Amino acid sequence: MQFHLDGFRPGDPQRHPASPLALPHTDAVPPQVDVLIVGCGPAGLTLAAQLAAFPEIRTAIVEQKEGPLEKGQADGIACRTMEMFEAFDFAERVLQESCWINEVTFWKPDGQQPQHIVRHGRVQDTEDGLSEFPHVVLNQARVHDLYLETMRNSPSRLAPHYARKLVDVVVDEAAGDYPATVTLERTDPQHAGQRETVRARYVVGCDGARSATRAAIGRELVGEAAHQAWGVMDVLAITDFPDVRYKVAIQSGAGSLLIIPREGGYLTRLYVEMDKLGEDERVAQRQITVERLIEAAQRIFHPYTLDVKEVAWWSVYEIGQRICDKYDNVAAGREDSEIPRVFIAGDACHTHSPKAGQGMNCSMQDAFNLGWKLAAVLRGLCPPALLHSYNAERQAVGKQLIDFDSEWSRMISDKPADGQGAGLDPKEFQTYFERHLRYTAGVGTHYGASLLCGDDRHQALATGFQVGTRFHSAQVLRISDAKVVQLGHAGKADGRWRLYAFAGRNDARDEDGGVRALCRFLETSPDSPLRRYTAAGQDPDAVFDLRAIFQESHAELEIQAMPALLWPQKGRYGLRDYEKVFSARLKHGPDIFDLRGVDREQGALVVVRPDQYVALVMPLDDHQALADFFAGFMLRRVGGSPAHPTSPGAACGARAAIQSNTRRSSHRSAPRTAWSAGCR
Ligand SMILES: Cc1cc2nc3c(=O)[nH]c(=O)nc-3n(C[C@H](O)[C@H](O)[C@H](O)COP(=O)(O)OP(=O)(O)OC[C@H]3O[C@@H](n4cnc5c(N)ncnc54)[C@H](O)[C@@H]3O)c2cc1C
Repeated sequence: MQFHLDGFRPGDPQRHPASPLALPHTDAVPPQVDVLIVGCGPAGLTLAAQLAAFPEIRTAIVEQKEGPLEKGQADGIACRTMEMFEAFDFAERVLQESCWINEVTFWKPDGQQPQHIVRHGRVQDTEDGLSEFPHVVLNQARVHDLYLETMRNSPSRLAPHYARKLVDVVVDEAAGDYPATVTLERTDPQHAGQRETVRARYVVGCDGARSATRAAIGRELVGEAAHQAWGVMDVLAITDFPDVRYKVAIQSGAGSLLIIPREGGYLTRLYVEMDKLGEDERVAQRQITVERLIEAAQRIFHPYTLDVKEVAWWSVYEIGQRICDKYDNVAAGREDSEIPRVFIAGDACHTHSPKAGQGMNCSMQDAFNLGWKLAAVLRGLCPPALLHSYNAERQAVGKQLIDFDSEWSRMISDKPADGQGAGLDPKEFQTYFERHLRYTAGVGTHYGASLLCGDDRHQALATGFQVGTRFHSAQVLRISDAKVVQLGHAGKADGRWRLYAFAGRNDARDEDGGVRALCRFLETSPDSPLRRYTAAGQDPDAVFDLRAIFQESHAELEIQAMPALLWPQKGRYGLRDYEKVFSARLKHGPDIFDLRGVDREQGALVVVRPDQYVALVMPLDDHQALADFFAGFMLRRVGGSPAHPTSPGAACGARAAIQSNTRRSSHRSAPRTAWSAGCR
């Protein structure tokens, strides 16, 4: 990581200096904010951590509970989510603390003794090279802790206001810059029943499956219930079952069970199939106890034993797949004339079974998609119409999840084949699991063509960086210090766009073409996105972070011979940034050009969004197309946003820029078709 840019700072480099703009945390919720986030689950905290990076944006986050979550709920963290955690700088800590899922085993009734179970299959959980990160398991509460720490250490010093329950949201566009009025009720015994009113430019309901925000904007979850009760428990137990430290799917005559090995080496999560429910019956009516859960698990484990010593957490639930038709408050068909003011994210807009481990992951990805867009609008980089793209992109992803989960849940609950034509062949179950591993790893998301994701006409230049999918990182060698790094880890949660220039053969010596010509265009042309959208006085990479990857060895490349934009002067002292130029040549193995199918002759420019998705693959020399792409959804900078947001004067400038830019563009909207592409 990079630090000391604006002067030497002792202590933890992850703790950013507090911005003078940071709203001091007081007992009362601020009466007026840019963004009010409702709910401190994974969705709300992802969004809060993202917005906390921008102290000029006034963000508040409220939670009905009196403090942070301590145990239970979700635990699966997909590879794609780990890539996102890297953007927040805590992936390493999750790697250290979590349990890694390497293989999955499958068990079925023994043909000779059907009341016994036997192992019938074993698959690798994550295919080689799918991501630089593994699939891991960690308690949701620990994920919350890491986000809360990120927020505490951010320039905004953002902290939740606990014991606040959202009661209502009313939107009145005529009410000026803060059209959403939110009523909160305090829930702690000392203040129970007291109400607070907050006015906000935008409200994001991350308030879970029973979302009051969703109800306030008149949306509902629609879908199906499977009328099947399941139990989940985190246990410390003694067992002779051999695969207890693997992820395991058991289909038995006594029901189905999933084992999730947990962090720390001793804890185990068991998902246990319980009762079939009646048409109108709710799971609570069955009054299922933890003792019944344990007994059911013991029956399924037979002939193996399970001696539960401690239950750390348990819950019962019923399976259903439900989704909202729209994730914001603008009625379908009114996108041309209205700006969304209230959004819902996570379980507030899609609920499904927990067994594919997608709930927490999908919820955080919803918030990561929305976070940079809200920041771009509030910082005046994009018009508010950009915000329609959140629903367009994420509702389609949610729909895919619901379809996948319906099938997956049905298969898990099916009885194993009885040899008479009834039930599910355990092999079929395993095959379905294997076929969807990329999807469950979170890397299957593919946003359709829109203003934010270009078409794929130049995809052949870099076949492994598919437009609309997440940037698939690979190793490169930094030429300034010969360190091997993951290129994708340049993509931090800082709202910046990444421009990865893959140089064609001999490009390093080409004065007129390739990377040099691109840098000249970016530095000098009036059409350059860098000149159009970076405010006077900001660092040259404040909005667009250009990185170059050459095919020559680092010994043949000199940083001093690079265009200034590739080792730019930045910060208070004009220090050089030495971390933007890489060689593809490693000591061992295929290089990034081979791994990701980059054209060695022509090279390619890969444009990556602030949420790490590939927006465009294009020739290095198609400068006009690059300019046109960004002109489609960005606003030319008019004011002087500051070079150093930590200096008091600069901070005030940034805040003023937000206000004028939000007003300036509040009724502009891009053509609806631009945002409605959904996902492929
Ligand atoms: C009891 C429970 C058990 C679960 N078990 C599993 C599991 O075993 N495995 C699995 O994969 N997933 C499980 N899940 C689902 C998983 O936790 C979610 O998919 C994931 O947490 C979704 O994140 P979210 O941020 O959208 O919502 P949530 O995590 O539900 O967070 C919503 C937050 O909003 C708060 N809130 C709600 N209403 C209001 C209001 N009106 N005002 C203010 N705050 C409000 C809630 O207190 C909560 O903190 C479980 C969820 C629950 C609730």
